[in-house]
Amino acid sequence: MIPITLFKGAKVAVFGLGGSGLATCAALQAGGAHVIAWDDSPASVAKAKAAGYETADLNGIDWASLSAFVLTPGVPLTHPAPHWTVGKAALAGVPIIGDIELFCRERAAQAPAAPFVAITGTNGKSTTTALISHILAKSGRDAQMGGNIGTAILSLAPPAPGRTHVIECSSFQIDLTPSIDPSIGICLNVTPDHLDRHGTLDAYAAVKERLVAGVPAGGTAIVGVDDKHSQAMADRAERAGRQVVRLSIRNPVSDGLCLDGTDILRIRAGAVVFRFSIAGVGALRGAHNAQNAMAAYAACEALGLAPEAIVAAMRSFPGLAHRLEQVGRIGKVLFVNDSKATNADSTEKALAAFSNIYWIAGGKPKEGGIAPLAGYFPRIAKAYLIGAAADEFAATLGSTPHVVAGTLDKAVALAAADAAAAKAPDPVVLLSPACASYDQFPNFEVRGAAFRDLVLALPGLQPIDTAR
Ligand code: ADP
Repeated sequence: MIPITLFKGAKVAVFGLGGSGLATCAALQAGGAHVIAWDDSPASVAKAKAAGYETADLNGIDWASLSAFVLTPGVPLTHPAPHWTVGKAALAGVPIIGDIELFCRERAAQAPAAPFVAITGTNGKSTTTALISHILAKSGRDAQMGGNIGTAILSLAPPAPGRTHVIECSSFQIDLTPSIDPSIGICLNVTPDHLDRHGTLDAYAAVKERLVAGVPAGGTAIVGVDDKHSQAMADRAERAGRQVVRLSIRNPVSDGLCLDGTDILRIRAGAVVFRFSIAGVGALRGAHNAQNAMAAYAACEALGLAPEAIVAAMRSFPGLAHRLEQVGRIGKVLFVNDSKATNADSTEKALAAFSNIYWIAGGKPKEGGIAPLAGYFPRIAKAYLIGAAADEFAATLGSTPHVVAGTLDKAVALAAADAAAAKAPDPVVLLSPACASYDQFPNFEVRGAAFRDLVLALPGLQPIDTAR
């Protein structure tokens, strides 16, 4: 835990008592603050009370007596409408901050030279965060991974020289972190997402940019420049005198990383200084993962690791559950769990990564369905459709072989039998639903776990060891 000492003797309210909210209460209390905890959910309040925290309805407190108000990132700050607590804090002039802001302030006070890698972007945050942590750990470094992935940031070990915090930051978290100042700041990409919470794409990109713009002199900004917002943010960081490493999976770069066929090139001042390949790393399939690998390489290089050591460690990256997760093989057939793909955009990445696909898709459909994926239909040996989207997807697939399986268990059984009889090489049974899960499962994790269990129960299945 990271005790937050900067509010010693002061009163701080914490709203939102999930995992990170409770970790915030613990960290503030350990540092000597007077913490008042609250949540709109009575069950969460009861849990906080049981854990020994003072709780009080924030409707009834004297807001002027607070030194800070810590808000959970899941609660709207501005859009579609500010949460009721936000108005009260603003009226009383109380700073509204998040747990990552507490970390940044404590680090600045206690260990300003401690390495701090912050990762944002619309897509690829978790993969990049986990990959950097994996490489650091393999190289014998103390890597503390958390934030929007896994552990709440204030539950990690305190910042210290020789200890690297690798922190995934969502745009909501950045919004609550006015002093964000990572020694290495990464923005992978900016594409339309969460616009209900940020109003416009420009506003959303501006929030992401704060993570990169916060990199202090002597630090490194790492930016994927394949979209125009990220390009502009890299240019501005450079004009501000920051060292910028640009990443592109589409175009050459003169200082940064780009592709040459399947090779990744590290370019400095126009010259190739290192070349490597992640072809064959099962957990990093696809061009999108090349962008994530480039970002991880650049971050680890900035942290002083040798190029060869970085690449050697990448090779043993086990990947993250539900994102092109390799579950196992039966003979030549590979089984892949990509349950995190809840829209066509994400599923496109999966379809692009394989060519002989026995595709399990469906669930609660998103607007536009799978029509944007039509260019990949020739890669599909057969589709097995489940859930509420099945009939709609069947119509879109047209002459592409498909069957309405209805449920995941039937789809897995049918796909496994067909793939086993495949004539073409490297058949893959791929769950990449392009749909939300809510019609048949509580969330994508449960859906992915169900797929994994069904696959692991198939006769002759050889599991592939992955990180879970
Ligand atoms: P995030 O944490 O940002 O949601 P993840 O690493 O969990 O990202 O990946 C989620 C999905 O996003 C993946 O399954 C894949 O479809 C897609 N994806 C991953 N990395 C990238 C990237 N660099 N660019 C575009 N899409 C990506």
